[in-house]
Amino acid sequence: MNEYPMAFVTAPGRVEFKNRTLPPLKDDDVLIKVKASSICGGDIHLYKGKHPLASLPMAIGHEVSGEVIELGPAVSKIAVGDRVAVEPVIVCRRCYFCLRGEYHLCQNIGYQYSSGQGGFTPYFVVSEDWVHCLPDFISYEEGALLEPLAVAVHAVRKAQIEPGHYAAIFGAGGIGLFLLQAVKAAGSGEVFIVDLLEHRLKTATSLGARFTLNAAQEDPVERIFKETQGLGVDRSFEAVGLEKTLQQSAQSLKKGGICVLIGLFEDPLKVIFPVNLFVQREIQIRGSRGYCWDFQVALELVKNGQVKLKPLISHQLPLQDLSRAFEILLDPKSQANKVVIQL
Ligand SMILES: [Zn+2]
Ligand SMILES: [Zn+2]
Repeated sequence: MNEYPMAFVTAPGRVEFKNRTLPPLKDDDVLIKVKASSICGGDIHLYKGKHPLASLPMAIGHEVSGEVIELGPAVSKIAVGDRVAVEPVIVCRRCYFCLRGEYHLCQNIGYQYSSGQGGFTPYFVVSEDWVHCLPDFISYEEGALLEPLAVAVHAVRKAQIEPGHYAAIFGAGGIGLFLLQAVKAAGSGEVFIVDLLEHRLKTATSLGARFTLNAAQEDPVERIFKETQGLGVDRSFEAVGLEKTLQQSAQSLKKGGICVLIGLFEDPLKVIFPVNLFVQREIQIRGSRGYCWDFQVALELVKNGQVKLKPLISHQLPLQDLSRAFEILLDPKSQANKVVIQL
């Protein structure tokens, strides 16, 4: 157990395992035997060598669940044998934002993977403060998806959805399908979800979306206005990271509406945006970054059945097939959604 493999992207399209030695546990650390680890959109940006905020080589994977097998001497809230999901942020707890409780905005924020601890590995060390216990009826594979669900929960809170609000979600990937469920849990009225891939829209239908729009076959903005008596939606979510979908997210808004941005743009300075919409329609655009006290909410939504995690898992593969998992994700023919690595 002293040496174990951990996955890195070392060059575009190249996953390599490097041996790592187990660090000594600090006072409040727990040692987790990783059981499931899923691939995030951010990992795909890294795999392509196009992550706008990180450069290669880089450890990958941060959507992690597992069983606690060892405790640091001062651990008090977690026990050996606990089934947990990891909240993979590293924050300073001392800066302006941390002291205000807004740790996702920490001036010194880091992530486990960018500090050398990826998620595609058999062991994970983290402070007990950053693990969340999973009830027995949530599998480890589902537990790994708590992280992207927390991203969606945070975005829905940023959107300040009110009961009856109409919403449009651009992108029916993992985040989009979590947004769909979280928006409905928040009491929205009709929800439109837009994508180019039919299998994702099918999953959206099975999760309760009434309006699934294939942007390859129709103009989503036109359709949204048609279905809303020419008003548009109260809230929209950009969960793709492309100029076109950003434009559509803003254009589909009702006057006074709010668009929340979650997608990461690979070419942020090349985006053309219809800026006059701000004044013409008094719209707002807000960013949503990560999560802050959102894992707790995510867990409640899963516990009470308002969010289903399992239908999002399209593939489960062993750790040695990690490279193949990325190939699957990048091949539209494989109809992949969330790909979970099992350990
Ligand atoms: Zn993620
Ligand atoms: Zn801080």
